[in-house]
Amino acid sequence: MVERVDYLGLDRGGWGELLAGWGEKPYRAGQIMKWLHHRDARGFAEMTDLSAGLRERLAASGSLAEPEVTEERQSEDGTRKWLMRAQSGSLFETVFIPEAGRGTLCVSSQVGCALDCSFCATGKQGFNSDLTAGEIIGQLRVASRRLAELYPDRARPITNVVLMGMGEPLLNVRNVIPATTLMMDDLGYGISRRRVTISTAGVVPGIEELCERSLASLALSLHAPDDALRSELVPLNRKYPLAELLPACRRYAQRQGAKGTVTIEYTLIDGVNDSLAQAKSLARLLRALPCKINLIPFNPFPGTAYRRPPAAVIRRFQDSLIAAGYAVTARITRGEDIQAACGQLAGRVADRTQRQARYKRLAALELEEAVA
Ligand code: SAH
Repeated sequence: MVERVDYLGLDRGGWGELLAGWGEKPYRAGQIMKWLHHRDARGFAEMTDLSAGLRERLAASGSLAEPEVTEERQSEDGTRKWLMRAQSGSLFETVFIPEAGRGTLCVSSQVGCALDCSFCATGKQGFNSDLTAGEIIGQLRVASRRLAELYPDRARPITNVVLMGMGEPLLNVRNVIPATTLMMDDLGYGISRRRVTISTAGVVPGIEELCERSLASLALSLHAPDDALRSELVPLNRKYPLAELLPACRRYAQRQGAKGTVTIEYTLIDGVNDSLAQAKSLARLLRALPCKINLIPFNPFPGTAYRRPPAAVIRRFQDSLIAAGYAVTARITRGEDIQAACGQLAGRVADRTQRQARYKRLAALELEEAVA
């Protein structure tokens, strides 16, 4: 069987290659991309400036399939969460967070996650599958369309995209790079590179690949100021310890130019990583890295023993870092009533119970394979 092309996931380079192979003129790529991403075309028949022959060939050789929304929920605070079905049949989640003057779409890159960070609900269900580039960009397409329907007066409801939904984006760079490239391309969604952020738990080879191939912003989920604690919270740290990870982030920031920075995400967990001493060692650890710090109060989910620190502890941690000269924001928790906050996305995979036990054992092994 000839593999059908996943058109929604093709970036400019992908279209160029495909059309050159068909003997078509290069400018056709721009025409088709505008139809798909500017005018939200749902089929090729609409693309009236293409020849009938090309339209037929397009229709016969690939698909415009996008994730199907199976459920929509809205939080009291306006946050909206969609449960979507991937081609594999598994369900994953996408979240829209409206704020004054901007709107952030939090996109998933995988169904489930192989990393098993101790404080994250997604990791507890294990890994199910990678999302394709078309399914990643499809989340933006589907959400934009729905938001345009809900807010017809707003010119552009989605101003920012963060790959902070389910999954580890840098264990799926093959799909994440074209999808984010499309988000930033003028022929795609034209979002500035400062507003498209790839968040990673610290996959060093993935960061290196981004250095070569991506212009997006980078966020690092750090969560601890030393290797011992970080390995407990983020098991991936055993493979890529801080001495390798932080220099890789620094290279990424430097490559973005004089103003390049990396966002450090730090989930604050009561009595685990929230002491004043830990804030001070964090300040020392990050001295050589151009960064801003985003503190995330822990969001509880069923079955976790962790708790969120009291507000005063969060403030003390933040003040200490500010006093050390860092730009620090504390994230306001959004969408908690619909389980849409950071770390609460679980989607639904086919056989979760079976997977849970199995993946606990296999997580480390799979990870080795996935990054090999
Ligand atoms: N795998 C990627 C992106 C997904 S998570 C990564 O690790 O960066 C997005 C952010 O939410 C990460 O910083 C993650 O560590 C954090 N997070 C996960 N579970 C959380 C929870 N229960 N409470 C608060 N933040 C959490």
